[in-house]
Order: sequence, then C-alpha cells, then structure tokens
Amino acid sequence: MPKNETEVLRENLEKVRGQIRAAATRAGRNPDEVKLIAVSKTHAADVLRVAIGCGVSVFGENKVQEAERKIDELGRDSAEWHLIGHLQANKARKAVRLFDVIHTLDSFELAERLERICIEENRSELPVMIQVDLAGEATKSGVAEKELPRLIEKIKRFTRLKLRGLMLIPPFCDDVERVRPYFRRLREIRDELAAREAFGGAKGDLSMGMSHDFATAVEEGATLIRVGTAIFGERQNPL
Ligand SMILES: *Cc1c(COP(=O)(O)O)cnc(C)c1O
Repeated sequence: MPKNETEVLRENLEKVRGQIRAAATRAGRNPDEVKLIAVSKTHAADVLRVAIGCGVSVFGENKVQEAERKIDELGRDSAEWHLIGHLQANKARKAVRLFDVIHTLDSFELAERLERICIEENRSELPVMIQVDLAGEATKSGVAEKELPRLIEKIKRFTRLKLRGLMLIPPFCDDVERVRPYFRRLREIRDELAAREAFGGAKGDLSMGMSHDFATAVEEGATLIRVGTAIFGERQNPL
C-alpha cells in the first residue's frame, strides 16, 4: 500500500478512536468498555495487514468465503475475526472453523447446527450474539424481541455456544436521533436479560453502531461497534 494510503488509514483510525472516547466521556462511560471492530469487507488482505500495523486487532467480515481468503493469507491468529453478516446453514461449518465470534445468530435451527458442528470440530466454546430485529423489518434477518426469551432458554442448554450479547442493525436513517431509540431499547432488553443471567453472569455485549451512527451507539451503551467506511473509506465494490 502506498505511504499516503497508510497515513490516511492511520488518521481515520485516530479520528474514530477520538470520537469513541468523546462519546463515552459524554455518557459517563469508560472508553475502554468499547471495542472497535474494523469492518473490512471488500478490502483486500494487504489493506488489513496495514490496519493491523496501525493497531487494529479485530476485523468484521460479512461473508464467510471472502473472510476465508483473507484469514488464509493473514493467519487465523493475526487478529480476532467476527462474522457480522447473515450466516447460511451451508456455511456454518466454515464459520465455526474461521470466526472467533458470530454476531448474527438469528434462529434456533442455526444455534442447533452451530452447537452440533462445534462438537464435531472439537471447538469447546463459540461466543455468539443474537441479532435482534426491533423494527419488524421483513427484509432483514434477526429475532423478534418477543421470541428472545425462548431462544435464550434453548441456547442455555447447549454446552458449546456461549451467549455473549445482542446485535442490532437498525433501520437506516440519516438522522441519528431517529436511530437512538433503537439503541436505547436494545440496551434495556440487554439489561433485563442480564438480570436473568442470560449471559452467564456477565453484563452482556451490545454490538451496535456503524460509521454514521457509532457515536450515538456508544452514548447508548454499545460495547462492540462495527465501523467500515470511516476507517477504510468508501467500499469499491459495494456488496
Ligand atoms: C458493512 C457493515 C458495517 C459497517 O458499515 P459502515 O457504514 O461502512 O461503517 C457494520 N455492520 C454490518 C452488519 C455491516 O454489514
């Protein structure tokens, strides 16, 4: 990568990290509670390598096969790898082999399949987040709020899947103040579930916030934010 591109990446990261700190401070939160996931979909492995050099330690990818190519090139241990896109049943085995965390658990069938594959692959623990659909958007995957308790009870009986938190892709809106209620609602749901020990005694993570709204998400309690464009620039081949 040319020098200036590396510099741009470094500057972008500094800016994003500064905005995270500012948002956390505004909300009276400790900035260290917020983990930045660099969403690297559509970007080549050499760009990710530069990002690692700039201190990025967690990548988010939304397609299993695309992630596989990069992980093969960079090594499984070069970073933490998070799956943030919808997981199809036929890619579940690869996902179990490749990813540290799956953010997009969205059905009992998928949970059952992942549990079975973990046993077959001798993977002792797979941290997962449940993707929640708060807006009732038929076009998006995710579990409706009212179905959450039942799904969580079922997951609790599994030995390999570890429910780590909740994930949200809110309806897109330029005005972040219209998105804020969704972030807030997810935090409330997380708090209610944590009180019932849904996350194994932990507080539970909130995966929410993207380039245009991560500061608002941090103000509302996000612990994992998924930022692509603000770090890497516009994607060349939108997926
Ligand atoms: C692409 C993507 C992101 C990052 O989006 P940006 O607007 O580029 O920051 C975050 N979350 C998910 C689920 C994505 O698919």
